Amino acid sequence: MQNVEIEMFKTIRPRKIRLDASTLCQLRCPCCSTAARKIEPAIGFGCLKFKDFKKLLDENRYLKEIELSNYGEIFLNPELDSIIKYAYEKKVRLLAENGVNFNTVADQMLEMLVAYRFRLLLISIDGASHQTYQQYRVNGNFAMVIKNIRKLNNYKSLHDSDYPRLIWQFVIFGHNEHEIPLAKKMAQDFGMRFILKLSWDRHFSPIKNLDFVKKESGLPVSDCEADQVMQGAEYGASFCRMLWEEPQINWDGKILGCCCNHWRQFDGNAFTDGLVPALNSESITYARAMLQGLKPLREDIPCATCDLYLERAKANQWLKRGVNMTAFRVKSRLRKLIHYALDQ
Ligand code: SF4
Ligand code: SF4
Repeated sequence: MQNVEIEMFKTIRPRKIRLDASTLCQLRCPCCSTAARKIEPAIGFGCLKFKDFKKLLDENRYLKEIELSNYGEIFLNPELDSIIKYAYEKKVRLLAENGVNFNTVADQMLEMLVAYRFRLLLISIDGASHQTYQQYRVNGNFAMVIKNIRKLNNYKSLHDSDYPRLIWQFVIFGHNEHEIPLAKKMAQDFGMRFILKLSWDRHFSPIKNLDFVKKESGLPVSDCEADQVMQGAEYGASFCRMLWEEPQINWDGKILGCCCNHWRQFDGNAFTDGLVPALNSESITYARAMLQGLKPLREDIPCATCDLYLERAKANQWLKRGVNMTAFRVKSRLRKLIHYALDQ
């Protein structure tokens, strides 16, 4: 029992965090919680301020990597240039692996991404033509996205740099499945990794040709297969482990814990209370214990109303103590299979 207590109350001081640079977005994707304003009560609409970012890096010099994207479009943050430059000076790697729509990016910003070695951009492009793309990416402009990729690649050549590495993410729907091969080819021509993903919402434009999509993607495309993945313990674990490995912080410093939680914050604020105290508050420490089955459900904890926690409790499958980072990275592949978090 003593070891359990020690593990439960071990101070969390992760080298990677997730910090939303912006929860604003100019697009209106039909299944998105940002577009539907569901994030408004707990998360709100706003942008990370440079002064908060600088203070966070100055006070927490052990930080090595920050994921900037989650609920909005990072390029709508008017202070992103200062954020990118300061992170480079402090040798902190920046990523947007959750995704960007890449519609509105100034030339100067495109060059900064290369000059300041922004590590990774996952660009959401669900189609290979404007007509198809804009059916989900409402208000988006396919030609503009492609133009921005070309310009970025041009800057990469000029600076002789591999960064940022680029991923073309294609969320598969019934209206775009026929363009998968062409999009794959375009991604290859642009030197981008290509990944296919299933939408979490199987009611919006469902896949029509299951055999074709399965052959192209290797993904669990039938409802039954997708259910098995989403109810599997490993799928949920890939999100829940964020509480330990890469906690999610809102643009204003609120502690959200994982990238799924948009309904209730944990105690504390990373900017005003300090990152380590906020990541080790009573409520998030209790949540970690809940996820390990060491404490019972408590109504004021965000996980208490999360489907992934409820599935875990029903199956009596708790997170193991002693998180293994390598295993986490491997398993995190699972969360890319399903477009669970709705955004990007
Ligand atoms: S149970 Fe839900 S809210 Fe809690 S950490 Fe896991 S995914 Fe996030
Ligand atoms: S899914 Fe992404 S691009 Fe679309 S509205 Fe939401 S935040 Fe914007």
